[in-house]
Amino acid sequence: MSELIRLTAAELGAKLNSREVTAVEVAQAHLDRIAEIDRSLNAFLATDAEASLAAARAVDERRAAGESLGDLAGVPVAIKDVLVTTDMPTTAGSKMLEGYRSPFDATAVAKARTAGLVNIGKTNMDEFAMGSSNENSAYGPVHNPWSLGRVSGGSGGGSAAAVAAFEAPLALGSDTGGSIRQPAALTGSVGFKPTYGGVSRYGAIAMASSLDQIGSCARTVLDAALLYDVIAGHDPHDATSLNHQWPSAAAAARAGVASQPLAGLRVGLINQLMLEGAQAGARAQFEATVAMLTAQGAEVIEIDAPHFEYAVAAYYLLHPAEASSNLAKFDSVRYGMRVTPDGGGTVEDVMSATRAAGFGAEVKRRIILGTYALSAGYYDAYYGSAQKVRTLIQRDFEQAFAKVDVIASLTAPTTAWQIGHHADDPMQTYLYDATTIPANMAGIPGISVPIGTAAEDGLPVGLQLLAPAFQEARLFSTAAAIEALVTERDGTPFWATAPVIPAGADRKAAE
Ligand code: GLN
Repeated sequence: MSELIRLTAAELGAKLNSREVTAVEVAQAHLDRIAEIDRSLNAFLATDAEASLAAARAVDERRAAGESLGDLAGVPVAIKDVLVTTDMPTTAGSKMLEGYRSPFDATAVAKARTAGLVNIGKTNMDEFAMGSSNENSAYGPVHNPWSLGRVSGGSGGGSAAAVAAFEAPLALGSDTGGSIRQPAALTGSVGFKPTYGGVSRYGAIAMASSLDQIGSCARTVLDAALLYDVIAGHDPHDATSLNHQWPSAAAAARAGVASQPLAGLRVGLINQLMLEGAQAGARAQFEATVAMLTAQGAEVIEIDAPHFEYAVAAYYLLHPAEASSNLAKFDSVRYGMRVTPDGGGTVEDVMSATRAAGFGAEVKRRIILGTYALSAGYYDAYYGSAQKVRTLIQRDFEQAFAKVDVIASLTAPTTAWQIGHHADDPMQTYLYDATTIPANMAGIPGISVPIGTAAEDGLPVGLQLLAPAFQEARLFSTAAAIEALVTERDGTPFWATAPVIPAGADRKAAE
């Protein structure tokens, strides 16, 4: 195992810029790691060593030619398979798109490439990003690097597991209801979702367009900030992307360690996010972290957000409604799979056979629910009411942020569960999204930072921080300060305590 894989993206970037290592060496070290352990994790759906090494070589050549390159030039990034790429296939975790190649790169991917980041592979995910455990992937679940029989969270379980297991220092993800933050919590990594419109969604296969955001996954807060700085910004291809001057998130993360932002910080604890059913050991870690914040001079304020109670119900109406419309484009004509029934048939027969064969159970469930919620006669009762709840949740946040600077909660109510444990009960996994969904409903930024392990099972626990729209700098400085406290308490960064995965371990044995 090369020592290079244990460096953070910031450290790798520095070594690359001082020419201590080459981008090719760094890419090769990560490709070796993937070859060695991904059989155990199933975090990647596609890799292409030749494409990655060619991209790395191009960075080395630019550097050799004296071009001045950014902080992350030559650093590998894994890309959630919901983002289209020209150099590798894109499936969104679905059989529907098996073998699909995009003629263009998603904007976030294009920006990463321009900054010299090297695509190291496409990561596994719940089909069309629907799920919280990665078990809805058509290509099998992602196994948690902390305990191979457990889920890695979802829908971006592949991106989170890849960074936690040193297969990549950085990854891109998408977060519609928690899909960056929740897998980060379950794998002991950092996951960041920006303000809605902060990052272009162009080339992200749309699920629920009013909720979807692209963001960053990493092992440290600074690394997540560095990657976000690269992908943020206005894009004429996405009408919802904001034309805003985003301050440097990396500078904010660095300031969070240097300038003690916790003294005097007003931290809100929302009663409705303190879930009664939360695991005792996760709760204990959360309370211990809150105590650390108080010791640093933060003021902890309890607040009510009465409409959060309806967030999950409203989300699971809005989301299927938007998703059912977005997925109508997989019609057997324009993209991917086509199944012709025996003996032929009409266009409708082909469409129906294709959609029956190409979509998994969860996707079908949401298409049916969403179509129903949008149907004439039911629109006001379901979709209309859910939109009203959304407005009320936004108001709850406005009132909360009049009193506090940031909101803290557990990112997820429990640690990673056994693969298969909730397989027959989609409601249970929906309820697990209660803590992450409100931020998407309001379009505000959020981050998950590891704060320790739960006493019962030794698995990672994540703390979620939320801030008002546009306040990512506050989020990154606070998150970096918390990360520094955890590191000081444990004597080592959290990510460094992950168990070692034996090379070539067979994930099937762990299931
Ligand atoms: N778990 C949520 C869902 O299934 C969130 C998914 C996501 O953020 N992509 O919809």
